[in-house]
Amino acid sequence: MELAFTAEEDTFRDEVRTWLAEHVPTDERPPAGVAMREYDLAWQQAQWSGGWAGVAWPTEYGGCGLSLTRQLIWFEEYARTGMRPIDTRFVGESHAGPTLIARASDQQKDAHLSRILQGDVVWCQGFSEPEAGSDLASLRAFAEIDGDELVVTGQKIWTSFADVADWQELLVRTNRDVPKHKGITWVICDMHSPGVDVRPIRTMDGHTDFAEVFYDEVRIPVANVVGDIDGGWSVAMSTLSFERGTAFTVHQVQLASVVEELIEMARERTDRRGRPLIDDDELARDLAQARADVAALQAMTYLGVSRNLGREMPGPEGSMLKLHWSELSKRIRRLAMDVIGTASLAKSGVDGRWVQQYLLSFSDTIAGGASEIQRNIIAERLLGLPR
Ligand SMILES: Cc1cc2nc3c(=O)[nH]c(=O)nc-3n(C[C@H](O)[C@H](O)[C@H](O)COP(=O)(O)OP(=O)(O)OC[C@H]3O[C@@H](n4cnc5c(N)ncnc54)[C@H](O)[C@@H]3O)c2cc1C
Repeated sequence: MELAFTAEEDTFRDEVRTWLAEHVPTDERPPAGVAMREYDLAWQQAQWSGGWAGVAWPTEYGGCGLSLTRQLIWFEEYARTGMRPIDTRFVGESHAGPTLIARASDQQKDAHLSRILQGDVVWCQGFSEPEAGSDLASLRAFAEIDGDELVVTGQKIWTSFADVADWQELLVRTNRDVPKHKGITWVICDMHSPGVDVRPIRTMDGHTDFAEVFYDEVRIPVANVVGDIDGGWSVAMSTLSFERGTAFTVHQVQLASVVEELIEMARERTDRRGRPLIDDDELARDLAQARADVAALQAMTYLGVSRNLGREMPGPEGSMLKLHWSELSKRIRRLAMDVIGTASLAKSGVDGRWVQQYLLSFSDTIAGGASEIQRNIIAERLLGLPR
């Protein structure tokens, strides 16, 4: 096995690093609303103009179609810039777009894919409902079929960036008379349609990144159904396999630089007696453990990306990666609180970002499917244990 990069790959890394250094936005990202949307889309437009949009997307859909190694180099360099791995572009680029590539009609692909990469539109995901999260197939938002339209009434919850989205990957029930997995439809919903009502939810980190969405007889053309009416469960499984299998690659890579930053801080900062924090054996041991854990995560990420190469869709092993990354992320963000000490009591100030990230990290083991659900998938689909 050759783990070193080739000279061409090193040159490619230099090219990526230089481009990112020259183009990554330097002004602060607005925390909410239209200004935040404009900021994220301007960054997407810059990547499109520079030829760096959709590094993992095939070239026939406007992506870069990079090889496995080059994708990883891009993700590593992107992570080094410190840019947020999740912003309003996340759903479009990471799982709605890939689902359309894998499952949509040519007409649907033509209508949507290039607009995602060009930074024209924001997508959101309308899967979860108050009574249907882990048990997604219990969803109740209902669509009546009226001629060539679906008429949707119901509610979704935890819809990230719904308040600034143009389009939504929406799951609705179209048949109540069949087993629950068999009466669901995956449809593209225009978020500007009459009858869509978005109500933002404030989280403990103070932001309103997600929302409840209510649908009151919202009319959606049948032509927006991806796959078949009542056949949406298998399309939803494609979406979730992208969400769990590949969407968090930048996060995984970024965690390594977070640990290195913490180690550096522990060397530079001192305790009340003036000793470097790193001299505390317990903290040093925890940091060393974190460094070993992210090295294991990195190896798993390489393996995951490599396995997915040449497959139409990521396999269930993505759940191992999602589980390991999210649990580790929470531990490392907690460790950061030990390094910053009493500054962890405030969300503002020099160390405010560490506190924000700590509060945000609680969502890592819930979003995209809770840890218990990932463990169930690993048990049943990878280890073959009984249900
Ligand atoms: C930051 C964030 C962003 C999100 N963005 C979106 C979005 O954009 N669109 C969207 O549709 N959804 C989104 N979600 C919702 C997310 O998908 C759900 O929160 C998640 O699937 C869990 O569902 P739930 O909240 O209903 O919890 P529940 O399903 O009610 O689970 C509650 C607890 O019970 C456990 N549990 C449930 N069933 C089992 C079981 N069978 N075995 C063992 N334990 C079980 C769970 O693991 C969890 O600990 C987001 C969530 C977060 C945190």
